Amino acid sequence: MASIFTKIISGEIPCYKVAEDENFIAFLDINPNAKGHTLCVPKQEIDKIFDMDEALYAKLMAFSYKVAKALEKSIPAKRIGMSVIGLEVPHVHVHLIPLQEMQDIQFKNKVSLSNEEFAATAALIASHL
Ligand code: AMP
Repeated sequence: MASIFTKIISGEIPCYKVAEDENFIAFLDINPNAKGHTLCVPKQEIDKIFDMDEALYAKLMAFSYKVAKALEKSIPAKRIGMSVIGLEVPHVHVHLIPLQEMQDIQFKNKVSLSNEEFAATAALIASHL
């Protein structure tokens, strides 16, 4: 069965898209740790990050770097944190999270945003790419 992220990539379910190229897509996490929490996802459905071939892994890091730079320009934060987990969605994704404090990377406290805030945040980040 296709992963939820494959369904986003195919357009079957919506997302707040930040960036896309031939191999990757970036969209806002729907249950964010912080405003601007973004997922960078390979279009190829691979479960575990270290099952990716090295070349695609390197490209994912380069894509995530560009998105992180745009996040830095868009969302006031002490720094952008990066995390790879994948216990909930078995399709590789890099979490990029604007951090003010340690708990922002801990996946416990969540922020709630309206549809309008999600859309405006995605557009703001995209404008810096
Ligand atoms: P994990 O697999 O543990 O790295 O977590 C998966 C992440 O994907 C969680 O932070 C979810 O909030 C996020 N997520 C799940 N479904 C969606 C969706 N439809 N759109 C955006 N983010 C999602």
